[in-house]
Amino acid sequence: MISKTTMSGPYRLGLPDPEPQPTEGCPRCEALSQQRATARRTGDLSAVSDLNVAMRAHQGGGCA
Ligand SMILES: [Zn+2]
Repeated sequence: MISKTTMSGPYRLGLPDPEPQPTEGCPRCEALSQQRATARRTGDLSAVSDLNVAMRAHQGGGCA
């Protein structure tokens, strides 16, 4: 369960942010990508945002 109480970064409304793509074969990316798909399906856009941030941070920190 992801909860979000405050916005943690600059949000550019109207400009679609390019979303990070999961790295093939990386289980962490897979998991984040699946959670993101679920969040989007349920309309939880703040969770989608969170997961994008998490995926970027994970990939920036050295992906599998
Ligand atoms: Zn990864």
